[in-house]
Amino acid sequence: MSIAITTHALLFPIPMQGPVNCMLKLAELLCLSGISVTVLNTEFIQRNLLRHTNVLSRFSRYPNFRFQTISDGLPDDHPRSTERFVEVFEGMKNVTEPSFREMMVSGCFCSNSECPVTVIIPDGSFSFALDVAQEINVPLIYFETVSPCALWTYLCLPKLIEDGEVPFNSNDLDVSIKSVPATETFLRRRDLPGFCRGDNITSHLTEIILNEARCVPRAHGVIINTFEVLDASILVHLRNVCPNIYCIGPLHNLFKSCLAMEPELVTQTVGSNSLWEENRTCLSWLDKQPAKSVIYVSIGSLAIMTKDQFFEIWHGLVNSGKHFLMVKRPGSVIGEYDDSQVAKILVDETKKRGFFAEWVPQEEVLAHSAIGGFLTHSGWNSTMESIVEGVPMICWPLNVDQQVNSRFVSEVWKIGIDIKDTCDRVVIEKAINDVIDLKRNEFIKSANALANSAAQGVAQDGSSFKDLNRLIKDIKSI
Ligand code: UDP
Repeated sequence: MSIAITTHALLFPIPMQGPVNCMLKLAELLCLSGISVTVLNTEFIQRNLLRHTNVLSRFSRYPNFRFQTISDGLPDDHPRSTERFVEVFEGMKNVTEPSFREMMVSGCFCSNSECPVTVIIPDGSFSFALDVAQEINVPLIYFETVSPCALWTYLCLPKLIEDGEVPFNSNDLDVSIKSVPATETFLRRRDLPGFCRGDNITSHLTEIILNEARCVPRAHGVIINTFEVLDASILVHLRNVCPNIYCIGPLHNLFKSCLAMEPELVTQTVGSNSLWEENRTCLSWLDKQPAKSVIYVSIGSLAIMTKDQFFEIWHGLVNSGKHFLMVKRPGSVIGEYDDSQVAKILVDETKKRGFFAEWVPQEEVLAHSAIGGFLTHSGWNSTMESIVEGVPMICWPLNVDQQVNSRFVSEVWKIGIDIKDTCDRVVIEKAINDVIDLKRNEFIKSANALANSAAQGVAQDGSSFKDLNRLIKDIKSI
């Protein structure tokens, strides 16, 4: 007698806000198509999700969904802050990787368990998952939550090293880079991922990226959060290395569009996957501001800045004379200061036309009619969310994929200004005035065109909608 095996996808995000958010959205889309889904979160991430969202009640509508947790190897009271993220990587290596293997080979997801996994969908940086998948003969599809342009630089990293373009010393960051096909005319040293800087590239992060470059092409497929029109020039090259790519972006938009097609879900709100408490009063404050007048500032969930950089940005905002909404995530500004060190003009002007919050519902903020520009660290999710809403960006990238994303924003898509490697109040003031006033029309023209293409991509029969359906079909037929 043969036993029917249910299609069961295991989604395994890296423990960071952006990827967790994306994986949960994908999980919901797969559940809607009848696939059984487990999301494997670290205990730390799961605790914060449960604390700040209604994720459990939201997912209770899917009988084919469940969460499973895994240890990240760190004590409960470890902050998992950016400065100590190396310890997170070490904990993952020492504890999470072996536990994951055990779960898959002989534990709760093995072939003779009650719910064997039929496809593994881990974060693109989890190279260990490919070895496990091959050991137990289960197909694996990577979910790359970084941009295609960043992924392309990662895949080219061995060639960059072989050609002697990386590592480089940071004295002259304007030297052109030639070993990343499709970007030869505009990519400079300063636009490569931050870990390429410095005389040696033996960091833990570089090792992860080199492993990623080795493993991603060997997977059954790769899911990317982009849409064809946005990244056509890079996708051509990526497909030569990874032939089976599913472009399902902008994922948050595709998600909304698919939910709206479900008769029982059409009235439901989308719901948050935030790991911090969202301050929703910023939305009422935005309601009172004139259309397209506010500059929104956020450096995402991981990046940090020094106290001096924070004050430069704050001065730039105030000197621009524009309204601003700034996210100051707990722990994101390094260095102590007390209120007596804050210039009076900053306090007075912020009362008149500024709003500070620790964490906001960013998708809703960017969709608000009062937002005129986004000063961003150029994380990929933030970039996609801004593109969807046609909001021009001022890019102040700090780490990993952000340096290359910001170059694409300014040079390829022409929807913003890249101020990387500076943090000067005069530069910031000028960039704000350009984006909100002086060069607004030129940015808005390209931003609206991309926002329209993004909307077309997620509509029924759009390229991302089709790729999602192809992904679902492939997962079911595996
Ligand atoms: N985000 C949010 N509220 C905030 C700041 C950020 O919801 O106050 C979300 C944002 O919408 C995005 C994610 O956090 O989805 C950040 O991801 P991104 O890839 O932009 O940057 P990362 O945090 O990974 O550096």
